[in-house]
Amino acid sequence: MSTSRGTCCIVGGGPAGMMLGYLLARAGIEVLVLEKHGDFLRDFRGDTVHPSTLETMHELGLLEEFLKRSHQRISQVRARIGGEPVVLGNISYLRTRCRFMALMPQWDFLDFLSEQGRRYPTFHLRMQTEVLGLIEEQVRIVGIRANTPSGPIEVRADLVVGADGRNSVVRHCSGLAIEDLGAPTDAFWMRLSKRPEDPQLFVLADRGKLLAMLDRGDYWQCGFPILKGSAEEVQRRGIEQFRAGIVEIAPFLRDRVTELRDWNDLRLLTVRVNRLRQWYRPGLLCIGDAAHAMSPVAGIGINLAIQDAVAAANILARPLREGTVTANDLAKVQRRRAFPTRITQRLQEVIRKQVGRDVGKSGTARPPWPVRLLERTTLPCRLRTRFVGVGIRPEHVKTPGVCR
Ligand SMILES: Cc1cc2nc3c(=O)[nH]c(=O)nc-3n(C[C@H](O)[C@H](O)[C@H](O)COP(=O)(O)OP(=O)(O)OC[C@H]3O[C@@H](n4cnc5c(N)ncnc54)[C@H](O)[C@@H]3O)c2cc1C
Repeated sequence: MSTSRGTCCIVGGGPAGMMLGYLLARAGIEVLVLEKHGDFLRDFRGDTVHPSTLETMHELGLLEEFLKRSHQRISQVRARIGGEPVVLGNISYLRTRCRFMALMPQWDFLDFLSEQGRRYPTFHLRMQTEVLGLIEEQVRIVGIRANTPSGPIEVRADLVVGADGRNSVVRHCSGLAIEDLGAPTDAFWMRLSKRPEDPQLFVLADRGKLLAMLDRGDYWQCGFPILKGSAEEVQRRGIEQFRAGIVEIAPFLRDRVTELRDWNDLRLLTVRVNRLRQWYRPGLLCIGDAAHAMSPVAGIGINLAIQDAVAAANILARPLREGTVTANDLAKVQRRRAFPTRITQRLQEVIRKQVGRDVGKSGTARPPWPVRLLERTTLPCRLRTRFVGVGIRPEHVKTPGVCR
């Protein structure tokens, strides 16, 4: 068993973990990020980089470099609900530096952060390292145990951060209490090729079905929610019927649904919505989905996770550098981020009820009256766009950058 020691050990190289790792290394703090996979190449991650995250990139002086990576820009979030066109959000209303949402595969986003992080000598990223447990001494978390291809390791650190997502092992081992908010749907995730003449629609909803479509340049990454627990039944009905369901709400995909040859071409993603009552213990903090699992609604989760990372770095960089992190410092992170989290989860639920309320039911849906009303007036659209694009209590980078 090899053992190492560091200032901060972050479990999980997703948006929350990579951004926190980058920010702490940029502030001159020794940080080790542990990621269980060998690369970031997984197709079931969301891709929506909102203006709030682009603003953070700008504050870090990385925006120009970041936008050189291949991406699609979306200013109007359009949907078709019950056959009627609806504008769900108009990002050009925002007064942010970027008045668009960037659609960038998450592996590019994470690769970019790791590339930038490696420019600081205090940034360390270890892939293929799966954390299995926490090391506890006198009620304080002092490190982690993990498996690597070359055998088990122990890492001891002044602070362990759980950024390992909605199935967080860190959270599970910490014994912190979870409040489950329930999620009525899961989602099948798939890719379908894209044609230049396809409509630029984000959401299509009708007759109890909903299809979310993310533009990935030469293909669509699609999410098809189903009632929780109904996956087996959907599969029993057969792939033909599933394809027909997609064509019913998106007829322009008729010539491509056969790209879904069998169920191996789809991935079932479990949606969870929950949050920790307390995000920390002495020596341990959870952020991102590990602290509050987000639903895919409005593609906010990644951006909220990034905001957590910015707030955590702002609050913790100094005590970490001075070796004085206390539970009180960790409580400050929760106090800062718990309110935006609660409101965001609540509003995601409101949007889900409005746009996706008929999932799993039969009958033609017109857009529900609040959506139709909001469609006709500008102010609610501006508010909605601000909530999704910028979020509640946006964070600004306050950590200093050391010379690299
Ligand atoms: C179906 C679905 C679609 C979604 N679509 C979007 C979207 O389009 N836009 C959006 O903003 N949000 C979306 N979300 C929400 C979003 O995925 C999350 O809110 C966001 O990814 C949280 O980021 P994170 O860094 O906290 O966790 P994650 O992105 O889950 O990252 C956690 C990382 O930790 C690693 N890890 C896990 N366990 C261990 C371990 N034991 N040891 C080491 N590493 C570990 C994982 O491999 C992963 O890299 C979606 C959610 C779902 C369920």
